[in-house]
Amino acid sequence: MRPGKERGFLEYGRHTPAYDETDDRLKHWGEFLNDFDDEKMGDQGFRCMNCGVPFCMSGCPLGNIIPDFNDLIKDQNWKGALARLHSTNNFPEFTGRVCPAPCEAACVLGINEPPVTIKLIERAIVDRGFKEGWITPEPPEHRTGKRVAIVGSGPAGLAAAQQLNRAGHTVTVYERDEEPGGLLVLGIPDFKMEKHLVRRRVKQMEDEGVTFECGQSVGLDIDAKQLAQENDVVLLTVGSTKARKLPVDGHDLNGVHLAMTFLKQQNRRVSNKAVTDAPISAEGKNVVVLGGGDTGSDCLGTSLRQGAKKVWSFEIMPKPSDVRTEDHPWPDWPFTLNVSSSHEEGGKRDWNVLTKRFEADENGNVKKLHGVHVEWIPVENGRPEMREVPGSEFEIECELVLLALGFVHPEHDIPTLLGLNLDNRGNVQSEYGNYSTNVDKVFVAGDARRGQSLVVWAIHEGREAARAIDLHLMGSSDLPSAHSYGYDAVAIEGASS
Ligand SMILES: Cc1cc2nc3c(=O)[nH]c(=O)nc-3n(C[C@H](O)[C@H](O)[C@H](O)COP(=O)(O)OP(=O)(O)OC[C@H]3O[C@@H](n4cnc5c(N)ncnc54)[C@H](O)[C@@H]3O)c2cc1C
Ligand code: SF4
Repeated sequence: MRPGKERGFLEYGRHTPAYDETDDRLKHWGEFLNDFDDEKMGDQGFRCMNCGVPFCMSGCPLGNIIPDFNDLIKDQNWKGALARLHSTNNFPEFTGRVCPAPCEAACVLGINEPPVTIKLIERAIVDRGFKEGWITPEPPEHRTGKRVAIVGSGPAGLAAAQQLNRAGHTVTVYERDEEPGGLLVLGIPDFKMEKHLVRRRVKQMEDEGVTFECGQSVGLDIDAKQLAQENDVVLLTVGSTKARKLPVDGHDLNGVHLAMTFLKQQNRRVSNKAVTDAPISAEGKNVVVLGGGDTGSDCLGTSLRQGAKKVWSFEIMPKPSDVRTEDHPWPDWPFTLNVSSSHEEGGKRDWNVLTKRFEADENGNVKKLHGVHVEWIPVENGRPEMREVPGSEFEIECELVLLALGFVHPEHDIPTLLGLNLDNRGNVQSEYGNYSTNVDKVFVAGDARRGQSLVVWAIHEGREAARAIDLHLMGSSDLPSAHSYGYDAVAIEGASS
């Protein structure tokens, strides 16, 4: 055991492995984080102060028991750390790669020092676990005879399926895409998270007894009402898939596309799957990406890898501060400028940009974006008002425009077929922590319930919904809940997708 726990951060600074050089990583689609040796990672765990009140845990929607696994890896007990990590998170290899790490924003060390590298430690623990063969199927010892149908196989559906199956229920996951994973497979590019990681988990779940019915759209190929009749519970984890539109002239020109259409095609190419709709490519083009969240950043990284001539990323909101401001004190999410690995790779960013219209060439292809800069005027007790800055009109030549403006709500076909109430944002109505809907036996979780969010929240909701369903079916439940640790995540949702 290494003593002097509370002094580790005085001995070691925050260190993270390097990325491959930009020129190298733009030549391929894979991940590019260099390896880090276990001793060095243990030193990073040693930086943790094992705080009496570990704010990192309240920052994590999953309630990950962060000080414990930091302590275990400081002493090179990787197997113990893996057990601790898996006790709250089914898929640390996903969050260890794509989570914006609200835990680190809430880390006490972060008040006046760089925070503990919690996300990297999480990734290192689970990657080591798979490498060592410690992660094996965990089928239930007995079956309850209850049948649960889960519609949608994103992180919410996968987490719920694994928990419910381990509780002994017979779980079938229906997915309209040809393979499970939701946005982990369809949207998030391989350079952020390689898809074999999702397939490896799906295989573990199949070996545990979960059935996946892919290429099956509920409401189209499968009767939603019949599904409800044939199962003891139906859980909807269909995501928030209705993209926000841009209602300006020229939004439907050739060359103006929704980000997801573009990203999905590239993910399919990387996975050697056929692209059946008209192919979109940034190669040799001037590209404009509208929207500055994760989706916009993924469009940028994808365009650069496809060989775009130039990429602009425009955001209608003002440029965030580089440092935490008084409006967002620790341990809240800092809302500082997000600089992703894709932003480091190239392209030009600008803020306070309003798109006025797109102009076409003689063939109906987009050739120019006409925009104007705006300013945001504070309004007492209200949202700031947007005003165009006179004389700031500009135009940019572009042959490809990618709309990464976010998602408004889930598709409404299944809610309509089942008679589900919607909330005032168009999401399926269900109270946080309850997950049931107005229709008996039908539950909802993830982006379909909370609106577009994060992978970590989807896993949280999947796990919590599984517990709510288990309680509903059996009258009691041994499945864990993040709330039972006494920590309620402080709803940090700074990163947008
Ligand atoms: C491009 C992009 C990048 C992102 N990057 C990040 C990131 O870096 N970090 C992060 O934390 N979050 C990120 N997000 C957000 C994150 O991916 C989502 O919040 C998360 O995937 C939501 O999980 P979910 O399970 O609720 O839904 P989804 O992942 O959307 O899964 C829903 C699934 O339901 C299926 N489905 C829908 N309707 C039906 C039907 N009728 N029948 C059968 N199946 C159906 C869909 O095909 C899909 O597979 C990103 C989102 C996008 C779009
Ligand atoms: S807040 Fe930071 S230093 Fe404190 S226990 Fe959590 S990770 Fe360790």
